[in-house]
Order: sequence, then structure tokens, then C-alpha cells
Amino acid sequence: MVQSRQSGILVFQKKNKEIIWSGIVTGKIKVVIGARSALFLPFKKLGLIIVDEEHDQSYKQDEGVIYNARDMAISRASFENIPVNLITAVPSVETFQNIKKKKYKLSKLENRYQNASLPNYEIIDLNNAKMEKQSWISNEIIEKVNIHLKKKDQILFFLNRRGFSPNVLCKKCYDTFSCPNCSINLVYHKIRGNLLCHYCGYKTHLEKNCKKDGKCDFIFSGPGVERISEEVKKKFPNKIVEIFSSDTMNKKSSKDKLEKITNNEIEILVGTQLISKGFHFPNLNCIVVIDIDLSSNGHDLRSAEKNLQLYHQLSGRAGRTGKSATIYFQSYNINNNMISDITNKNPENFLEKEIRIRKINNLPPFQRFISLILTGDNENKLEKEALRFKLFLENKICGKILGPVNAPIFRLKRKYRVRLLIRGLKTLKLQNSLAKLIPKYKFTSGIKLSVDVDPISFN
Ligand SMILES: [Zn+2]
Ligand SMILES: [Zn+2]
Repeated sequence: MVQSRQSGILVFQKKNKEIIWSGIVTGKIKVVIGARSALFLPFKKLGLIIVDEEHDQSYKQDEGVIYNARDMAISRASFENIPVNLITAVPSVETFQNIKKKKYKLSKLENRYQNASLPNYEIIDLNNAKMEKQSWISNEIIEKVNIHLKKKDQILFFLNRRGFSPNVLCKKCYDTFSCPNCSINLVYHKIRGNLLCHYCGYKTHLEKNCKKDGKCDFIFSGPGVERISEEVKKKFPNKIVEIFSSDTMNKKSSKDKLEKITNNEIEILVGTQLISKGFHFPNLNCIVVIDIDLSSNGHDLRSAEKNLQLYHQLSGRAGRTGKSATIYFQSYNINNNMISDITNKNPENFLEKEIRIRKINNLPPFQRFISLILTGDNENKLEKEALRFKLFLENKICGKILGPVNAPIFRLKRKYRVRLLIRGLKTLKLQNSLAKLIPKYKFTSGIKLSVDVDPISFN
């Protein structure tokens, strides 16, 4: 919960918790602005729930008690018999389907704030661009950005990857750095001077004894925002450049930085998707997407939807005060349909298409998916257990069980992970039968099960 005492708003910290709880119980507090956990507060007479950015995947809590706070808000509103407002620029496919089925009523804002027009889009074909080695910004972009800079437009270079480089490889022995706890490459963070696992937080130094001789000699393949920021500083040497990612914006200094960005004291930003989250930067009129990465990882049925939402929301950061704004997409794959979907001013075209694909293939929201993830220390024991568990469930539930397969991230936080996927009709029968069965199964010690109904992540 937000902000300071001066504005009469209390932050939901330990010392304020009591005041907030009693204020809610007695009905003294009339409005609560909260994160996921606010849904569990003991409201006395709740009248309305508003879910902002309803499509946002972070409503799903993936660890501990797995739930989707958006769906929980809808359920709570239904129990209390009160309205719930879902707010979004690009609805999730589930919500869009509910609008089509007339389960939800739709209200549209036809104009942007202060009647600003939507940004223009330009696609830069990297196949024809001559670029130096270890460079990711084309000459065409440099020219265009210079024109924007002359007009005092703020520039954002967007790349959704933290750190300096996601792949570190020894020239001599070809060894890479991977996390000892997870089956994941470590990301090199040059500013902090270490390699970091983005999943478990494991850290190490950039130094290794080489299998060939002496110390390893590293090359970095691929960029993160830190590396792009180095290139930007080289190409625009007199400009003030700042990185905008969870590594640079989580600290106390971030308030100061936000003020500087708003006042146009920072000329060029290099940012991750953190910047797409609802910030208002009045001078931001040029966004360069370094490489529009639309490579859908085959296991994620929502990757097209996620991309559309991300780039739409990113576009929404530009041209917010009425000046003309342009988003440039650098890409090697300019024939991708996804680019035309993203640049289409009407996201409903994409959603209609996506609904058709999901329907033909019996995917959510037309079927229910339930992920069963088994984790354990011993790979062999885990695989056997997963098979045994599948046999136990099979023919006893109203759904089809796929798997077991190794999870795309096979090892996470020192545990091996195996997945089963249940596909079934969208009736409560499936969940109920599963809820009755699971307690009757005795797992071998050391093996844990997580059940994820309507999974968002398939990692
Ligand atoms: Zn790790
Ligand atoms: Zn080596």
C-alpha cells in the first residue's frame, strides 16, 4: 500500500499494519490501494473492486500458495455480490472471451489522455543494416535518434534483458557459466562485477581456472541493457544516459532518478520491461526496440499474447503529452505477423485471431489446464514417482494427463522438476476429483507436489 503519511495514505508496513487492519475492520478506511494480498483484508462492507492492468501476468503468484489475484478478485466480488472492474489496454484472452460471451460488460476509452495521438511505428530491417561487430544499434537508428534529440525528445532504448550479457563463454575451453543450483546460464552483471542467477540469486566472480591452461579467457555473447548502454554512450557521447531496470531502480536513489527523467534531465534511457509499467514520462517521444524478440518458446501457449501486451504497454509510454512520437522496431525477422499485430491500432484483431487458434486447438480458455509439478533431490526417484503418480490419477479424474516430462527449467534451487499436465473440460468436476484424490496418495519422502490450476508459466 502506498506512499506517505502526509497525503493521508498509509504504507502497509509492519508499524502501520495494525492501524490499517483496525481501520478496515471498523470501516474508517474507505479506500485501499493494495497488491495481491490486499484481497484477503477483512473488509466490513466492500462495495467495489478495481483490478488495474488485469492482463498483467504478475497477478499470478507462482510460489507457495499458487493463485491468480485477478481471478481471486472476481471470485471475491461474486461472493460479496458487488461489481468488479477490470482495467486494461489489451485484455487477456480469457477476459476478451468473457466480453465476447457477454459475461462481462465493456466500456471503452476512445481517446488517450489529453487527446494524445497514438505513436507511429517504423520497422528497421537489420538484414540490410551494416553493423559493426558486437554492435546492436544500426546507423539508420542513430540518424533517426539524432533527429529526435535535436527536438529535445527523450529516447528509450528497450531490451528486455538485465545485466551485461546472458552468455559467457571461454575462448579456449568453451566452458560456460551456469548456476550450480539451477539449469540456467548465469548472467554477467558488469556494474556489480559478478555473474548472477536470476532464478535463485546465486552469485560468483568472473574468474575460472581453464581446462586448457591458466585462467579462462571469456567472450560475451548477446547483450543486456548494460551492454546496450555502453554502446549508446559511445554512439551519443555527449548525452546523459541512464539504465532503467530492477537492478538500478530498486534503491533509494530511484525517486531522485524518476524526477530527473520526468524533468527531461536524462536524455537517453536504456530500459527493461520495468519501464512499461505505468510510468508517465512527458518527454519520451522515441522508443527503439533493440531486437523485437518474438521467438516464442514452444512450451508457452501465451507467448504471442504476452508479447502483444508488453509492446502495447511499452508503446503507451511514448507521446503522452500530445507531441508526435515514434516506436522503431529493429528486427531480423520483419515478415513476422506479430509485428503487424503489435503495430495495429486495434488489438482486437489479434485477440480474435488468438481466440480462434485456441478454440481449434482446445487450449485455454476453452479447456482447463492443471499443472502438476513434482520436485525432488534425486532425478531417478523423481521420474519413477511421477510415473507412479500418473498411473494413480489416470482414469480416476475427468481429464487427460500428459507427461511426465522434464520441466524446461529442469533444475531450480537445487531441486529437479518434472511436470504433468492435465487437460479437461472447464467444469468443477475435474478440480473436485483431483482435490479428493491427491490426499489419498502417499509421496515418497523428499518429493513435493505443487498444483497449478490455469498455469501462466510453463517453465
Ligand atoms: Zn540458480
Ligand atoms: Zn577456459
